[in-house]
Amino acid sequence: MIYADNAATTRMCDAAITTMTKLMREVWGNPSSLYTHGQNAKEALEEARGEIAGVIGAKPGEVYFTSGGSEADNQAILTAAKIGERKEKKHIISTAFEHHAVLHTLARLEKEGFEVTLLDVHENGLVSPDEVEAAIRDDTCLVTVMYANNEIGTIQPIREIGEVCRRRNVIFHTDAVQAVGHVRIDVEADNIDMLSASGHKFNGPKGVGFLYARKGIALSNLIEGGAQERGKRAGTENVPAIAAMAAALREKNERIDETVAHVTATRDRLIDGLSKIPHSVLNGDAHKRLPGNVNFCFEGIEGESLLLLLDDRGIQASSGSACTSGSLDPSHVLLAIGRVHDVAHGSLRLSIDEETSDDDVDYIVKNVAEVVEYLRGFSPVWRDLQAGKREFVL
Ligand SMILES: *Cc1c(COP(=O)(O)O)cnc(C)c1O
Repeated sequence: MIYADNAATTRMCDAAITTMTKLMREVWGNPSSLYTHGQNAKEALEEARGEIAGVIGAKPGEVYFTSGGSEADNQAILTAAKIGERKEKKHIISTAFEHHAVLHTLARLEKEGFEVTLLDVHENGLVSPDEVEAAIRDDTCLVTVMYANNEIGTIQPIREIGEVCRRRNVIFHTDAVQAVGHVRIDVEADNIDMLSASGHKFNGPKGVGFLYARKGIALSNLIEGGAQERGKRAGTENVPAIAAMAAALREKNERIDETVAHVTATRDRLIDGLSKIPHSVLNGDAHKRLPGNVNFCFEGIEGESLLLLLDDRGIQASSGSACTSGSLDPSHVLLAIGRVHDVAHGSLRLSIDEETSDDDVDYIVKNVAEVVEYLRGFSPVWRDLQAGKREFVL
């Protein structure tokens, strides 16, 4: 089996599993308890916080644990909205291809009287810092732009966008769920005020993540209760999962440069191979993209059928976001980069990792080419294209 859906979730690494089971057995006290067993848990919690802060260039006091990326996105955006509201600033800038954890939170704020500007992401899947600047108004309280897109993998000019926001005195949040652990991130150098991350996207456990919030940003609570997480996120901390997330991130970070170089080379081999399939296109910029992300559209076929047939051949992939699968609408990300509906339906996302070998790549290329040809053989759309009744787009 070739697993090529690491953008949906990753397998937990041994370091994370070992840490998690050890803490579940040995350090299961409540970190808020004052006796030794509780304090041992508290120590493990703070060690994890320090480790994670170190990897992203933050201070430990700026890292808040959450239940995952979605919660961190919600809390960051609602925090900036609350801060803005107090100053009568109710305008937010984002992009058309954010994750739904961001888009749906923004939709909720729109119902509460906020105005949202969604920036164009262009055909290459990149936001322009100049366009961010042009969209900023006197009443803008937040710019939220994802670090790397979860479907097409494009990496945004975060440092430049952050620089614009800093100069114009607007809070800058980035959903970095796809980027943390996969590319080097430094919240200081990148001018980031708030950042969301999720353990299960970098070989840690599911159901745990973190929010970085620069010192001075007073977080609004999503969950009220006890004084955990400096009063900003109530609920007894999931210490084993948090420590496992930190262990996974430490391990990713220790060999990040080698991994980036190796996975990028494998990815480019995959892109080269798939590009030879007629009437296909790579979605998103070829270079400014995550090391492990490959996303193609093939004209004249349905992505869903492609996935099922690839599954039969032992290849686990996706047509885009795991969150929209099962829905008949084409991906909002592919529509945002200007793909027409018919083409957007024929998408394939392969998100590989350091375990993907060149042999795996060759197997994937051979099988995708065969299955695309097979599906085109009985596609009415393909027949019309061949007969000249429709124009090829790709
Ligand atoms: C997976 C993902 C999320 C959601 O993270 P969860 O931990 O699953 O809640 C948010 N944003 C992006 C870009 C993602 O890829």
